[in-house]
Amino acid sequence: MPETPFPSTATSDPLRILITGSAGFVGSHLVERFLNEGHTVIGVDNYISGQVSNTDLFRDHPRFTFIEADVSHGIPYTGEKLDWVMHFASPASPPHYQQFPVETLMVGAQGTQNGLELAHAHGAGFFLASTSEVYGDPHVHPQPETYWGNVNPIGVRSCYDEAKRYAEAITMAYHRSRGVNTRIIRIFNTYGPRMRPDDGRVITNFVHQALRGEPLTVYGDGSQTRSFQYIDDLVEGISRLMMVKHHEPVNLGNPQEITMLQLANIVKEIARSESVIINKDMPLDDPIRRKPDISIANSILCFIPSIKIENALRKIMVISDE
Ligand code: NAD
Ligand code: UDP
Repeated sequence: MPETPFPSTATSDPLRILITGSAGFVGSHLVERFLNEGHTVIGVDNYISGQVSNTDLFRDHPRFTFIEADVSHGIPYTGEKLDWVMHFASPASPPHYQQFPVETLMVGAQGTQNGLELAHAHGAGFFLASTSEVYGDPHVHPQPETYWGNVNPIGVRSCYDEAKRYAEAITMAYHRSRGVNTRIIRIFNTYGPRMRPDDGRVITNFVHQALRGEPLTVYGDGSQTRSFQYIDDLVEGISRLMMVKHHEPVNLGNPQEITMLQLANIVKEIARSESVIINKDMPLDDPIRRKPDISIANSILCFIPSIKIENALRKIMVISDE
């Protein structure tokens, strides 16, 4: 990201921010960022895919409170006036959401509405973590926000994709009909420290397989592509978008596109691993290509992801090997 200062939570007055999914990968990085900037944070999580260790990092912080709750059943917050409700709760790894399809649909539907109601009651902003999966297996490449997507509505990924599409729809409805100050981001594959080692997503799998000397499991022939963004770039984009009144969805991702076979070889090389690469069955409905068009984020947020995958992987592998 360019060094030029851009309005973000780093320069705002102290805020009171409630984050659902605070014990997850992305949520825990948001908690850390906001506490470091002097804000007050209320984390909410039911640990369906998160980690207690991610809550323990902040448990003793004087400006952090944690509520253990399933936000699909309600958000039991009774404290002082909130400035933001950030809805990041949802299983996000394909093995997790396919293990909990009903819970995933519920947190996208009921959980999102509960967050919107809370934001409305407090006159707070509402920030939705949506996903590149709303584009499904895209026929348009790279994917701009104007693309409506190609989603199988009854496939194994639909519990996640359709939940997020509904979440976007209800967020726009609360904005249009009830005046809630909303934001929607479509996050493209993001990685970094504090992902669960058994998360099942490709980077965690490859990193742990390479470090243990186990075979790297490439699904299909490995020619499918993704574009990976490091967590610090995502958090910076989120922090900037909170300060810009833009209610339509915004893609946040790193447009550097690689195949899964290339990724396996990069991980092997950085880990100096002797692991072999093996091929496993391609999962159902697995998108063939994915790359964000980030023109909007670039023009309204000066968003330019700057962290190279090789450097970030080196850092993660040191942490994962400790
Ligand atoms: P994660 O699984 O690490 O974190 C999600 C957190 O939400 C977990 O701690 C989980 O326990 C919690 N949660 C789920 N359902 C809940 C419920 N009903 N009540 C309370 N807590 C609940 O996943 P992540 O990668 O940190 O993803 C965070 C958000 O970002 C998700 O909404 C996800 O859809 C979105 N996203 C992430 C990525 C990515 O690449 N990491 C990409 C696109 C979208
Ligand atoms: N993938 C793989 N090996 C693995 C895990 C995943 O080749 O051990 C592939 C998967 O089929 C997909 C890509 O990597 O094409 C990204 O998968 P991930 O689950 O990380 O995210 P998503 O499919 O949601 O983008």
